[in-house]
This record gives sequence, C-alpha cells and structure tokens, in this order.
Amino acid sequence: MHDVASGEILETLRELHAHRVLIQSPEGLRKEAEEIAKFLEESGIEVILHGGVNYGACDPADREAKLLGCDALIHLGHSYMRLNLEVPTIFVPAFAQVEVIPALEKNLDEIRKLGKRIALVTTAQHIHQLEIAKEFLEGKGFEVIIGNGDSRVSWPGQVLGCNFSSAKVDAEGVLFIGAGYFHPLGVALAVRKPTLAINPYSGDAFWMEEEAERLVRKRWAQIAKAMNAKSFGVIVSTKKGQLRLSEARKIINLLRESGREAELMAMDHINYPALEGFSFDAYVVVACPRVPIDDYENWRKPVLTPREVEILLGLREDYEFDEIPGTERKNDEPIGIALHGGGR
Ligand code: SF4
Repeated sequence: MHDVASGEILETLRELHAHRVLIQSPEGLRKEAEEIAKFLEESGIEVILHGGVNYGACDPADREAKLLGCDALIHLGHSYMRLNLEVPTIFVPAFAQVEVIPALEKNLDEIRKLGKRIALVTTAQHIHQLEIAKEFLEGKGFEVIIGNGDSRVSWPGQVLGCNFSSAKVDAEGVLFIGAGYFHPLGVALAVRKPTLAINPYSGDAFWMEEEAERLVRKRWAQIAKAMNAKSFGVIVSTKKGQLRLSEARKIINLLRESGREAELMAMDHINYPALEGFSFDAYVVVACPRVPIDDYENWRKPVLTPREVEILLGLREDYEFDEIPGTERKNDEPIGIALHGGGR
C-alpha cells in the first residue's frame, strides 16, 4: 500500500557512516519498519525499532536515538518538519499507491459545485499526485490554486491536522483529497468556505460544512461546561513540534487576570487517565489540537483549546480552529526523503 524507499535510506546512512540507527514508525507502518530493519541489518547496520506511539513529524524520537547511542534516526511516515534535532534524522514520508484521478472523475459534478476557482489540498500521503490532480482539473475547465503554505508543511498544498495555511488562498472553495474527516474538517473551519473531501480509496465525496457546524456546536458545549471552572491546568507537550510555551503562558495570564486559578503543566502523551488525582476543574491543551477536539469524550473534565479559552473569557466571539503556525515557507524546503539535524 505504501512505497518506502529502503535503497535511498541505506545510501543516506552510508553517507553518514551510520552503524546504529533507531527506526520510528506510526502504527500503520510497523510492518514496513520491520522490513527496513531486516534490509539494513543484512547490510551490516544495527537497528533498534522504536516501539512508542507516534502520530506526526512533530514528535521525532531524536532524544531517544541519542540516548541509545544511535548515529541516526529514521522517522517513517511523515514529511520533514523544521525542528532542532539532536541526531541526523531521515524523514521518510510514505506515499499511498492509490490513483486519485478515478475518484476525481467520478465526482466532477460535485467538484463543479465548489465554483470555477478552487484551492487544492491534501495530506503528505497523496502529495505526489497533487500536480497530476491539478492538471486533470484544469483540463476540465477549473482554475486550480495550490497554496504555498508556511514553514510547518513540507510541500505546497499539504495540510496537517494543526496547520491549514496552504488552504488559505483566494479561491471560491477547497477540494481536499485524502481519507478521514479530521483534516478536511480543519480545512472547512480554517477557511470557512465550501469544502469538499474526496476519498481516493473509496471514491466517495463528502461536503464538510455540516460536519464542521456539528463540531463547532460540540465545542461550544465544552466551553459552556468550563464556564464555572475556577481552576485550570494549562498543559503543554514535551514533544518538540508541539511545544507552545509562550502561548500557554499567555493563556495562564489571561485566566489569572480574570480571577481564575491556572497552573502550567507538561506532559508527553497528553491523555486524561494520566491526570487523575489532580483537582483542576478544567484543562486547556496547548499542544496538538487533535487532543481536545478528537479525544474530549474520554475526558471527565472540560478540555479546551487556547482559542476556546479566549471565547470563554469574552475576548473572542467567533469560533476559530486551533492551529500551530509556522513561519514563511522557503521554496527550497525539502521534498521526499530528507536528512536533518545532528549538526553534521
Ligand atoms: S501537532 Fe498534531 S496535528 Fe500537528 S503534526 Fe503533530 S500530531 Fe499532527
């Protein structure tokens, strides 16, 4: 299903004179991690498989690699994110081997409802097909814009669950190619324009506005539940690409200025069961926005994003999705397999 470049990885490791490497993989790429491990071991490289949970490039295991005496980290499944890394790290995005054109062809009538000038976005898994999709749509009479995005994404047109900068362009609507709801939901909430999600695996198309409104209603309910809270735990993540300390301090100041109590907390994997025993009335997650939005049903206390705290305090009226912004993206940002960090 995924195409992982073992030969290129080996070549890069040889250039680094690496003898021991740590391979980090998300749940969906564990088998590929094992296959790469076997391949590298046959080539004389010692491999350690990282068994921890990983959801994104925001959480590279570079500190663990250093601790284990590894010369390099292979981070599978996610594209490069600009971070200060402690060992040379090879980001190996996994590109899905599914064609996107049949799903676009099947849903042309729905796509036409977006208007003539459309923004085209996708996740890292399908990014290698974005230009093909653009050409196809232009051939059908659309004006297609692929937004550059900021430095948090690796490619123009790429969206993350915490960054929709590439969707914020001058277009009538947004076409998202990919599976799952979270990304297109985030797009719909971030751009507030008609958003159509096309799943290249099933060939199905979904309009996101209703889902987005449903999500916003649930979030207003969380804000209402936190209205009488007197004390807040404001949680930052120790994952490198999720650490938002100054944002957390700002939220603590706002809460304290409003007469509420607030304490700064730090966690690696943010989840409610680990917080049992603390007496806070509510929590604010200043880390991955997916935690409070995707996982709130598993929390016994209200859990908010920083933007939602501003609504609670009357400092903001309109609902805004929590995003982690980057800086301006340079055009020479890496594409595909790429090596970073370690100061070599
Ligand atoms: S912060 Fe969350 S949404 Fe953003 S890259 Fe990391 S896991 Fe994905």
